[in-house]
Order: sequence, then structure tokens, then C-alpha cells
Amino acid sequence: MRDELADVLKGHNADYVEIRLEESQITRIIYRGERLEEVGTTSSVGGNVRALVKDGWGFVSFNHADKLRDKVELAIKQARLVGKEDSKFSQIEPVVDIVIAKTKRNPTTVPLASKKQLLDEYNDIILSTPKIQTSNIGYHDSRRKITFANSEGTYIEQNKLDLNLRLTAIATEDGQVQQIGLSLGSQGDFSAIEGLQDQVREMAQRAVRLLSAPHAKGGEYTVVLDPVLAGVFAHEAFGHLSESDFVYENQRLCDIMVLGRRFGDEHLNIVDGAAVPGLRGSYKYDDEGVPAAKTYLIREGILESRLHSRETAAKMGEMPTGNARALNYVFPPIVRMTNTFIEPGSVSLEDMLSDIKEGIYAKDWYGGTTSLEMFTFSAAEAYMIRNGKLAELLRPVVLSGNVFVTLNNINAIGNDLQMSQGGGCGKGQQVPLPVSNGSPHIRIRRCLIGGG
Ligand SMILES: [Zn+2]
Repeated sequence: MRDELADVLKGHNADYVEIRLEESQITRIIYRGERLEEVGTTSSVGGNVRALVKDGWGFVSFNHADKLRDKVELAIKQARLVGKEDSKFSQIEPVVDIVIAKTKRNPTTVPLASKKQLLDEYNDIILSTPKIQTSNIGYHDSRRKITFANSEGTYIEQNKLDLNLRLTAIATEDGQVQQIGLSLGSQGDFSAIEGLQDQVREMAQRAVRLLSAPHAKGGEYTVVLDPVLAGVFAHEAFGHLSESDFVYENQRLCDIMVLGRRFGDEHLNIVDGAAVPGLRGSYKYDDEGVPAAKTYLIREGILESRLHSRETAAKMGEMPTGNARALNYVFPPIVRMTNTFIEPGSVSLEDMLSDIKEGIYAKDWYGGTTSLEMFTFSAAEAYMIRNGKLAELLRPVVLSGNVFVTLNNINAIGNDLQMSQGGGCGKGQQVPLPVSNGSPHIRIRRCLIGGG
């Protein structure tokens, strides 16, 4: 294969050409209440060619990898139509490598019937809980083999595994509806979703308890975020603003995201990195063949760097970070996060709570929106903090604010980093991309809370 692709890539009049071939197998199991909506495994094969001529891109995707040379010529022809100036594309060392997926319990070796049986059991636990009206369950696992070659001599085969499960319990009483979800995932280790019976039961019971919980009184509070919600904050509110294609195209963001600018106190470190091993956003090379890195977005409170593809790195005069990713062969790679997290500090949760007279403990993520630096997130679970201790359960609360003000208002960073591996990231049409995010508990002063 390597020689064949090298041969196809030879002798073209282009600044750069790459070929990405993909074979994948995806299993999906979806329930709505008792109804099994989808169960099965689909296989697909495809690929694409991307070509750069005079700073213009051509992109051709296909399902049949025959006549590859013609496809390369077509991509170059397209690129030539848009290209007008000198190409800007960072130089990297060519690589030849084969990457095998390593996992404890490969989901592709677990029979479909066993997967269904496990989910049936979880669904029964949810649905048999009194006052639970219905459930949602979405399971997916995938195996991909991606072969990448470019005109600079790089040839990489990467095997990837991924697994994701979301369970939701929906409780109703007297016309009121409350729900709680549980999101889990792994880099293709099926055991990550086994043995969750107690957690699932507790989740369903918590959805029921919410029916009789009071609303929080809106206003500004000192808020403690749990590792799940703080991790989502790091990804959604801040991480997307570190994606250089977005920064490059947005003058206002360019003016704000100035490297060297202070965004928080010296204990604040926010990192993104596919080189952090064993997580859903981990890999050895990105979809441009750039080795994965660990990038400090914020180090000791100062904006240190941002996430790049080879193109954005060249355009902004910075180094590539190995963050060019494509959802699958239908799409060209764009700048994406991988594993995004706030590094742990030294404060225990107990100490973090102890000097709060009246505050809110917000846990887990239920949904939200961002608009440039403004964010609105719903926490799935919340408790009052009274006199330094956790107090009554509240209805889900909504947190909103400006991400830069909020980063600056973080006044304690916990010692208990946890990574969340459920869900996936969306950007443009490329959703859901496997990522992880995490944080220790963090405390934020003057955070605006609205009732759920
Ligand atoms: Zn995202």
C-alpha cells in the first residue's frame, strides 16, 4: 500500500497533496423507553484527496479507491481554480509509522447480543424505578483503520477504537418533568461501561428526587463546580476560543486572545493534548500526520498558545500542535480539541467549601450555549452550600457569564482531577468527534446563577 500511494502522489504540479483512506465498523444501539430503535453494525470504506496549489485547497472524497491518480488530478485542478498567492503551510518532518490500537476489552470482540443484554439490564433498572416515565439510551462503538500518505513522504497507518454510552432517566409527576443523564466513554475499552448497575439506579432515583427539589434563588453566588461541569467549561467556554481557525477569522477574538496576556491567577493551567495517553481524544498523529502534542493554552494564568493545523500555524507564524482532525473521510481536517483539562491544584473539596457561608455546588452538565466569550450552561445537579457544608438538593441551575471574567474569578483549584469521556464535540458538520475533558473541583466567586 505504501509504495502504491507513493507512486500515485509522485510527479504532480502542486505545493502539497495528501491521501487519506479509511475502513470503519460502527455498532449502534439506541433505545427510547422500552422501544429498541436501532441495533446493528455498519461497515464503510472510503477516502479523500486534498491538494494545495498557490494557497488554494481542492478536496475530493470517494467511496471507491480505484483510479486514485485521477482523483489526485481532480483535487489539484480544483485547488488551482481558487489558488492565487504563495501557499502557507507549516513544514514538518515526514514520518513512516504503523499504530496499533491497544485496549483492555476490545468492544469489537464483544458479541452484539451481550452488548444488548447489558443495556437491557440498565434500561430495566431505570424503567422499574417508581415515577420514572421513560428512558433514553444511546450506545456506540467504532473501529477505524486510517491510512494517510502525503507528497512529502509521510506514510502512517493508525488503528483507532472508540466507545460512548449515554443513559437518561426521565421522571414525571403532576405535569412536572425532570431528567438526569450519565455519559461515559473510553478509547475502546468495553469494561468502562460494565458494572454500572448501582450508578444507574442512583441516577434514576436522583431524577425522581429532583421533582420535589426547590429552585435556587437567582443571583450572584460563590459557586463550586464539580470536575464534570468544570471540564465542560474548559472545553466549551474556553477551548473553542483557542481553535486558531476561529481566532484567525475573527478580529475581535484576535484582539482578545493575545499570547502573553493574563487570564487568571498563577494557579490556573489549561491544557489540550492528544499526547496525553489512553483518553478518547488521544492519538499518535493528527489527520495531517503531525505528531500529537500537549499544549499549554494557559500556563500559570497567562495565555501561552493555541491549537493549530499546519495551515493556521503558518498563517499565524506559530508552531503546529497536532490538532487537525477530521470526523471521517468525507471531511477535510480542521482545528479541533483533543483532551482538554484544567490541571489540578492543591485544595481539597472540603477546604474549598469550608469558607463559603452561602453558595452553590453545581454538578454535571445538562446543556448550554456559547456566543464568543459569553456562555450559558445548565448544571444537571445542584446543591446549596451553607456554612461551609453541602446542604439541600436544588432543581438544575443555569450558570452564565463572560468566560474571561469567570477565569479571572476562579479562586480555588482542587487536587482531584477527573477526566470525563462521554459525549463528543461538534464543529461545523463534523459531530460527534471523540474528545475528553476534565478538571478538578474549582471555586468561582461572583458567578451568576439563574433558576432552572
Ligand atoms: Zn466542542
